[in-house]
Amino acid sequence: MEKIQMTTPLVEMDGDEMTRILWKMIKDELLLPFIDLKTEYYDLGLKHRDETNDQVTVDSAEATKKYGVAVKCATITPNAARVEEYNLKKMWKSPNGTIRALLDGTVFRTPIIVKGIEPVVKSWKKPITIARHAYGDVYKNVEIRVPQAGKVELVYTSEDGTIEKRETVHTFDGAGVVQGTHNIDASIESFARSCFEYALGRKEDLWFATKDTISKIYDHRFKDVFQDLYDNEYKEKFEAAGITYFYTLIDDAVARIMKAEGGFIWACKNYDGDVMSDMLSSAFGSLAMMTSVLVSPQGYYEYEAAHGTVQRHYYKHLKGEETSTNSVATIFAWTGALRKRGELDNLAELIKFADALEKATIETIESGKMTGDLALITELPNPTKLNSLDFIKAIRENLEKELG
Ligand code: NAD
Repeated sequence: MEKIQMTTPLVEMDGDEMTRILWKMIKDELLLPFIDLKTEYYDLGLKHRDETNDQVTVDSAEATKKYGVAVKCATITPNAARVEEYNLKKMWKSPNGTIRALLDGTVFRTPIIVKGIEPVVKSWKKPITIARHAYGDVYKNVEIRVPQAGKVELVYTSEDGTIEKRETVHTFDGAGVVQGTHNIDASIESFARSCFEYALGRKEDLWFATKDTISKIYDHRFKDVFQDLYDNEYKEKFEAAGITYFYTLIDDAVARIMKAEGGFIWACKNYDGDVMSDMLSSAFGSLAMMTSVLVSPQGYYEYEAAHGTVQRHYYKHLKGEETSTNSVATIFAWTGALRKRGELDNLAELIKFADALEKATIETIESGKMTGDLALITELPNPTKLNSLDFIKAIRENLEKELG
């Protein structure tokens, strides 16, 4: 069989621990035999990040700006224990955070639905994608513990000193707490733009919700930024694509989502996204069955799995014990990136391959062959629990059939 050709390389960001092991298995079994795989390789494994003083992470993000599409393996975000374990020069920052800051992106997370792993919410038939705004609000707050009676004020002074605004937050007659949060128009607009672009790409409706009835300036600003951008730049494109933009209150959105069928994108403010993405992933089944893609407002894409490096399995692997680690989200990171590359470069064969690999993966699970995490929660009778490599090999068998 002739291998499928690529024209532009993918930015390949290798990672850590068990997911690094899966990464190689996926390439060897599911990609290299079928595709003349072109990648520009960046080793984001912790050791190499340390050796390069984390320059490799910055370089990989810059390469993503150059080529447009990246695929990333899960990576360790060092904490004190990791500094010791890897004898690090420094407690390097989260690579995802560094890349996100450089690409100014929004993360979209979508569950992968298979028969036999049913969502807890019975009405959900299609995936619900969550887009979380990744800047500001309570995550960049300042807080004061108010020790005793006194007045708290909110004061704004313009840089040139010509404007001052002052509001009393509260006049305390005893001890209490106070918090200041902020956001910036530019960040809200990038977020909105990423969401509109992503909705167009997937041809799915976009929902957005805040609490603007209570927060008449702060949340209302979010609502206005989305609405203005929609009216000025996206309304016609949405109508042409046959999709809608829907704004509602956050409590109404939550109530509707519990009865919805799915098949849309839900844009969330930072805190709502934090809470709701965990609710959604556990209600849909498992973090190992979630895709995740970072989309920049300029249209750069970085595909990854939503889970971490599965450290516990890695230590078993190192001891020579068998592992049964779920590779589905990592496989879908590759298919997402390959499909996007195919779309951008007009490579029908590459898009077809990505579709075929996803189909083969889903069919493998639906036929009862799966990893241990899924075998525990499936409603299928007598599932076969496979080890990490055998699961990937079972997918390969289906893929070969799929590709004829
Ligand atoms: P984790 O996602 O690796 O594991 C959380 C739990 O889910 C564990 O019980 C694990 O066994 C299970 N799990 C996750 N993915 C699985 C899979 N594919 N198959 C089977 N079971 C799976 O998160 P963690 O344990 O909190 O973190 C481990 C490391 O991963 C940390 O060093 C952390 O910094 C890193 N991390 C990286 C990313 C990323 O790069 N995107 C995200 C989260 C955590």
